[in-house]
Amino acid sequence: MKKGFIFDLDGTVYRSDELMPGARSVITKLDVQGFGIVFLSNKPLHSRQYYADNLDQLGIPVDVNQIVTSSYVMGYHLSETDKGATVYPVGEEPLVRELKGSGMVISEDPEEIDYVVASFDRNFHYDKLNIAFQAIMNGARFIATNPDRTCPVKNGEVPDAAGMIGAIEGVTGKKVELVAGKPSKLMVKAAIDRLDVEPEDCLLVGDRLETDIKMGNDHGITTALVLTGVTSREDLAGSSIKPTYVLENLYQLPEKLDLGLETGS
Ligand SMILES: [Mg+2]
Repeated sequence: MKKGFIFDLDGTVYRSDELMPGARSVITKLDVQGFGIVFLSNKPLHSRQYYADNLDQLGIPVDVNQIVTSSYVMGYHLSETDKGATVYPVGEEPLVRELKGSGMVISEDPEEIDYVVASFDRNFHYDKLNIAFQAIMNGARFIATNPDRTCPVKNGEVPDAAGMIGAIEGVTGKKVELVAGKPSKLMVKAAIDRLDVEPEDCLLVGDRLETDIKMGNDHGITTALVLTGVTSREDLAGSSIKPTYVLENLYQLPEKLDLGLETGS
């Protein structure tokens, strides 16, 4: 019997402001029965409170501590490994707040910077690239919140953190050393720490093979691919990454896993 559930958000629980079929019903039932639940997002543009409020408005009341974002994971990781170090975030305000909240010092002085943290940054410009460049050439470590090339938006997609990572890699000739978001083990660790259960007692539900499902498979977590997001049956057939379960939608989750929850809405 599984004790902890890890849900990807975008494409799994909702898309834009629309809940995916079965999401509210299944999550509510898991919650009522006392299962641990956390929600994951690689997107570093919003605070965890934003996601908690958003889920609340969609009828899924959650505590902010149930939300795990790549910005949060970055702050959590640094606070555990090098608390008080000086960081330069190439990113937006929510990332800066997470880093400060984790006890990190923010600086734009390349001489002082211990870590350059590359992220999704819609205000990225030459000066930021130059600070990152000077810092890394001066010995700063180069890490990033999330590896995503693009971020889905209403009418397509926009460049994500890979753009900033690529620019810094291009000018420094150095590869990013560590990425906090999915499919990293740091994200799994943050989720598992929240749930306080063993990986084998968890189920990870997501819509993307190369992030959600890969991350679960790589770390001994049972996985369920839900086909309401970016992955089709054809994509699945053509991929070497295979989930434990495949679900048309979240309504199928209790039955497929034999959770003993009442099915239906
Ligand atoms: Mg997703």
